Amino acid sequence: MRILGVRIDHVDMKGALKKATENIDPLKPFVIVTPNSEIVVKANQEKELLKFIENAGMVVPDGIGLVIGSKLVKQPLKERVTGIDLMVELVKYASLNKKSVYFLGGKPGFADQAADKLKEQFPGLEVAGTHHGYFKGIHTGAKGHSEEVSVIEDIKSKKPDMVFVAFGAPKQEYFIDAYKDVLGAGLLMGVGGSLDVISGNVKRAPQIYQKMGMEWAYRLAKEPWRIKRAGALPIFALNVLIKKDRPM
Ligand code: UDP
Repeated sequence: MRILGVRIDHVDMKGALKKATENIDPLKPFVIVTPNSEIVVKANQEKELLKFIENAGMVVPDGIGLVIGSKLVKQPLKERVTGIDLMVELVKYASLNKKSVYFLGGKPGFADQAADKLKEQFPGLEVAGTHHGYFKGIHTGAKGHSEEVSVIEDIKSKKPDMVFVAFGAPKQEYFIDAYKDVLGAGLLMGVGGSLDVISGNVKRAPQIYQKMGMEWAYRLAKEPWRIKRAGALPIFALNVLIKKDRPM
């Protein structure tokens, strides 16, 4: 289905996990995108992002706005499939099926801490490597002589089956788009702030907020600077109502 011209797949968590694990292939890397309303708005402004989403292996609805939007365009999605939950399920699958994982992104140390937490939770998990997300290069926030090549070489040399990229959207999507075919990984997924949460450095909204679809409000209260980004939400809602399923 499409919401404001952006592809969203009709999958629930079980279906998403099945599709992803059946398609891990280093010769044809499986890319997972987890858009929310903000990304749908962005994809209407940036053609490259729209194309990337269109060509992804799977596009799961991470964001209550999309579930509500899908009802307005009369193609109701079953449920929200949050990136962090899908990532943890994939890591669990990796631990049970001898697949290795690489965590890229977050502040220095966070990816390592997240890896330790996941190894505790899933004994036997093979973490091929980790790297923070503040190296210099065109895909991250840091300016200066590019360190991107050495990060790419590190990932390639460690031969992970799955790479989770946590730079926030759409930076992580552009990074995956640029390197998916050279890394040799079978699955790549952008996971936003998930490493912050898994490492224990940022608290996820309590379950009650998650269940009510109010996780965004909790995050806004904790990180008020997000108000600038949340500006995309009313634009999204209005456009879905006015234009239904046509692109903006
Ligand atoms: N980040 C990064 N490199 C950058 C910019 C951001 O590694 O150049 C990390 C940041 O530390 C955080 C994540 O990317 O862990 C972005 O999280 P956010 O919650 O903003 O992403 P969202 O889930 O909203 O896309």
